[in-house]
Amino acid sequence: MGISHKQYRKAALAAWKSKEFSAAKSNLPLSTTLMKTLFYTLDEKLTEQGCDHTLKIVKGWCVETEVNFTDLNTWLEAIGGHCDCEALDNGEEAFSAAIGQQM
Ligand SMILES: [Zn+2]
Repeated sequence: MGISHKQYRKAALAAWKSKEFSAAKSNLPLSTTLMKTLFYTLDEKLTEQGCDHTLKIVKGWCVETEVNFTDLNTWLEAIGGHCDCEALDNGEEAFSAAIGQQM
């Protein structure tokens, strides 16, 4: 069976944290306000419609908010956020670590 998807995500996040932690805050792709808005939107929409294993909600939010999806996607890939639910789980955790507080 090998390594589970969840273990992979946690490993990717741990690797990102150890490598990038010191620079993590400056590496955030968006302002803290926008990051919080993104997580709020993801939480709300995932509750409504679930995850379809793409970044559909993230992409839609980028269009609505006029945010560059490519920059955000680069950061999401680095933290193991390859779909909307991973973007929320890993993104929120990485974001909290980056700003040094729990949301
Ligand atoms: Zn997902």
